[in-house]
Amino acid sequence: MATSSPFGCEIVSPMRGLFRLPTARLRAVADSYCLAETIPFVLAHLACLAAVWTGVSAADLAIAAGLYALRMFGVTAGYHRYFSHRTFKTGRVFQFVLAFIAQSSAQRGILWWAANHRHHHRFSDTEEDVHSPVLRSFWHAHVGWIFTERYAKTELSAVPDLAKFPELVWLDRHPYLPAAVLGGAVLAAAGWSGLVVGFFWSTVAVWHATFAINSLAHVIGRRRYLTADQSRNNWWLALITFGEGWHNNHHHYQGAACQGFRWYEIDISYYLLKGLAAIGLVSDLRVPPAEVVRAEQRLGRAVIEKAAGQLAARFEAERIVADVRAALAERWAILTGGCSVEAARLELAHFLQGVHLPAMPTVAELKAQAAAMFVDTPAINDIVERARLRLIESVCEMALGRPVAAAAGT
Ligand SMILES: [Zn+2]
Ligand SMILES: [Zn+2]
Repeated sequence: MATSSPFGCEIVSPMRGLFRLPTARLRAVADSYCLAETIPFVLAHLACLAAVWTGVSAADLAIAAGLYALRMFGVTAGYHRYFSHRTFKTGRVFQFVLAFIAQSSAQRGILWWAANHRHHHRFSDTEEDVHSPVLRSFWHAHVGWIFTERYAKTELSAVPDLAKFPELVWLDRHPYLPAAVLGGAVLAAAGWSGLVVGFFWSTVAVWHATFAINSLAHVIGRRRYLTADQSRNNWWLALITFGEGWHNNHHHYQGAACQGFRWYEIDISYYLLKGLAAIGLVSDLRVPPAEVVRAEQRLGRAVIEKAAGQLAARFEAERIVADVRAALAERWAILTGGCSVEAARLELAHFLQGVHLPAMPTVAELKAQAAAMFVDTPAINDIVERARLRLIESVCEMALGRPVAAAAGT
């Protein structure tokens, strides 16, 4: 069952999980933009230009700086580290305060934000990702995805821990109320120039700083950890987003309240959270285990498989097939036309394991390629072995003209 929110966003019941829709259907609606939603977004940008008429005072700039800091903290500590990842604890009253501050940045409802962000981590840089600059355009990842009809819905099944609080559900259904209250207060206190410069300038700045994590932090920067995505660490993004620029750290370990893992990785939101913990407003700030920081923990299967796929793709299976064909001579015709596919696959896989062909990389060559492609990881041997088996699978599939069972263990 689905209902409409006052802002035109459909609330979907858990029984109609978006995650369960077939990929083809998802892609079919992916580029269907909700133009009505873009109008306030465009108008907010145009409102910034009104400073030409209102003027800009030092007080207006101070308000803008203050509101930028307050709301960037709301985005990072609220939307992201608390509501999306639950990396620390707080009471129900401050939880609502945090949600209100976060939504005063006008980035839609707290449940909507957290549900889409959890989806991003689940499918980072795959076809299903809500905002991958690797597979889609930069602008789609930066801002376009927000206005597609596909992501207008609040997927309640992704945020059951938040949906059990009626006050959060209520706030989520009034996504722009906190921003309207804040804007009205600024207008009353500082007049039109305060509204234009103090409120709109800082709103637009917080928007694009936040969006840059979805776009730039998967494209520009350094990868310290091997993850199944293209997340990067970027110091200047970390400065303007109060710590969110340590995005590769975060994708490596999502359960930490801090995103700067080393003392020199400035993480302003974490420092502020530590201050709030000192006065008792928040507690149990989670930090990454030492072996996670040192990248010594076991990597997940998804990470290994992704890296193995990227490594195997560096070698040409077609050339290996040609080598196999030449090496097997007459036996090739029997394998590819005269016996069962399973028997042929077993023989081909066995042959490939025991012979050196010019186009088939050795383990040492795969290791050297992996060392050039990936950051240091104790899982390098697992990645190399899986890449080798994937190459054998690809060769068998090409040679036999149809998909074959995994070559693992053969
Ligand atoms: Zn996250
Ligand atoms: Zn990301």
